[in-house]
Amino acid sequence: MASHASPAKYGGVSGTLAFDRDTLTFTRMDGMLKKTMRVAVRIPLDAIVNVNMESSFLGRKKLVILTDSLKFPGIPRHEFEVPDPDQWVNVLQTGMYKITEEEMKEEVKIVKEREVIVKIPCRHCGTLNAITETACSKCGAPVK
Ligand SMILES: [Zn+2]
Repeated sequence: MASHASPAKYGGVSGTLAFDRDTLTFTRMDGMLKKTMRVAVRIPLDAIVNVNMESSFLGRKKLVILTDSLKFPGIPRHEFEVPDPDQWVNVLQTGMYKITEEEMKEEVKIVKEREVIVKIPCRHCGTLNAITETACSKCGAPVK
């Protein structure tokens, strides 16, 4: 599931909470007569460090999002009143897991590239030869 949206309340203000691929946005209605939609909060998925569901004394369920203050300056805790917090937790955690998976794949790729780059200079002519070679590709001297 790459996107999700539901009505929400943020800091007592009514609006819409929407997640699309890698960004979470809260849009609120502005203006008394002429209603306009305005983005009040925009949190990138990679700035989210934790997603949770909490219940208040009155039994109202809240979606609680904790953010990394380096990637998302400001308050690190965001509470949204949504009708389906459990589904929100599910959607956001799935997105967060995908990011972690992609980062891990990227790390593996970098390691592989480094392995390929490993070369040693020939002691006679200085030509760089792959570590797997036994003789220099230029002068034929034994490598190692
Ligand atoms: Zn050589």
